[in-house]
Amino acid sequence: MQITGSQIIANKLLKSETNSFYAKNPTNGQQLPTEFFEATIAEIDQAVKMAEEAFVAYRKKSDQERADFLDRIGEEIMNLGDTLLERCHQETGLPMGRLQGERGRTVNQLKLFAELLRDGTWVDARIDTAIPDRQPIPKPDIRQMQIAMGPVGVFGASNFPLAFSVAGGDTASALAAGCTIVVKGHPAHPGTSELVGRAIAKAVEATGMPAGTFSLVQGQSVEVGMGIVQHPLIKAIGFTGSFRGGKAIFDAANQRDEPIPVYAEMGSINPVFVLPEALQQQRDKIAEGWVGSLTLGVGQFCTNPGVLITQESDESVQFLERAKQSLSAVTTDAMLTDRISEAYQKGAGQMEQTDNVATVAKSQSSEAATSAEGFIFSTSVKNFLAQPDLSEEVFGPSSLHISAQFKAEVLEVAKNLEGHLTATLHATENDLVEYADLIAILERKVGRLLINGFPTGVEVCHSMVHGGPYPATTDSRSTSVGTLAIKRFTRPISYQNFPQNGLPDALKNENPLRIFRLVNGKLTQEQIS
Ligand code: NAP
Repeated sequence: MQITGSQIIANKLLKSETNSFYAKNPTNGQQLPTEFFEATIAEIDQAVKMAEEAFVAYRKKSDQERADFLDRIGEEIMNLGDTLLERCHQETGLPMGRLQGERGRTVNQLKLFAELLRDGTWVDARIDTAIPDRQPIPKPDIRQMQIAMGPVGVFGASNFPLAFSVAGGDTASALAAGCTIVVKGHPAHPGTSELVGRAIAKAVEATGMPAGTFSLVQGQSVEVGMGIVQHPLIKAIGFTGSFRGGKAIFDAANQRDEPIPVYAEMGSINPVFVLPEALQQQRDKIAEGWVGSLTLGVGQFCTNPGVLITQESDESVQFLERAKQSLSAVTTDAMLTDRISEAYQKGAGQMEQTDNVATVAKSQSSEAATSAEGFIFSTSVKNFLAQPDLSEEVFGPSSLHISAQFKAEVLEVAKNLEGHLTATLHATENDLVEYADLIAILERKVGRLLINGFPTGVEVCHSMVHGGPYPATTDSRSTSVGTLAIKRFTRPISYQNFPQNGLPDALKNENPLRIFRLVNGKLTQEQIS
């Protein structure tokens, strides 16, 4: 399939030759073929209006039909074969093995939402039947379920060019919910975005979905994304990226005449607490695991372990020594873009210059144009708490070790944390008893708590929470990974005293979909007699 540099507006390739841009290979710094164009305001307007028009029909498609559509998107992505992986490799510098895995994750994510739809129970049907002779007033018949919100804007992320991009988790969950979407492709991988966009467009056509169900607009300026956020017909936004970008979009969405929800997943430093007995028993293993996790994907994961806390002891000295040996043996590769590499160099450079922060270890760096050295820095709790800048994410392969003198200092670090996606404990059973109060503090700070592992690697499943309190995200009640993500793009509606033939199937007495429903307070698959 030839990449054209077009926008995909309601299943048609369109090109108005305005400001253009090219993708760049981060490994050798060379410009890649195909000129891409900034979407115009008129094109964005057309995409959103077509999404609104399509929404009327798309939201009424059955769960089965939408499930077939999601499965078909997965098949069309696989049909792109090596063309997709090769272009993605050129645009991101990510190894082919990683991209193969990420493609699998993307397709499986679509399949998981398809399964959720076929099961049908996701609509969370609740039925309270009438009691006409209740005194002093009759009880009405009230039935509730989740319905799709409307056209949704989705921002592709740079660091997962497949799994968090054009056909990523936000797209899968919004389409599953019954929303139509307009995607803003990330300018770091426009060719990958177009290929995946065209796979979705094929699936739209093959499964008889309305043309405006999906559009992809590309661009390098904030105006393109803002054009989507500020369009009055857009009803919600999904975003993964920087705090600055996410917050700007959140603020813009709140300043609209009709404010809309923004599900922005932003920065996080994912603290790791290594408790005393675990440190004694697993010192080298934890040190090596930490270095593996912080350098994975050149540290370009939102779950990168950005700080690690131990208590002062001989073990902690040896732990750092082992981590130093491990990091020195690693050669870090190309970062995704010039901008990300420059931001990382700046952030790591500032750390090196910060008072009372020691540079403990450095990795080797490759010859790649955007190559970056990995770092481990170290400081005391007192210094960490005194310098708020040290709590900011340095997006890349760096981590800050914090040395606590005693347990109270460990708790102090935890209490002073902002919201994060994850917190990790390395702990034995004795440690867990001793530090139960630490867990209680961390429960209020993060979306996912882990024991004896590392936060990189986010399983796509029903029980995953990839979210957390602000500033990790703009809405701590949700997740951007896993099936609960569907709820970001739905809202509840109640039908009061509706006749049977006026109700959606999910709420009819006979329960034709055979789904689980909460009927008069009891979860059941039975029909109502
Ligand atoms: P980004 O700057 O947040 O950009 C992500 C997307 O949002 C791009 O499409 C970008 O468009 C758009 N955008 C950014 N600011 C905007 C604004 N004010 N208004 C409208 N749209 C806006 O992320 P990035 O380019 O991927 O990387 C930059 C930094 O983001 C990294 O150094 C890292 O700190 C962070 N990051 C975090 C995560 C995470 O998972 N938490 C993931 C990736 C990156 P344009 O590029 O066209 O401006």
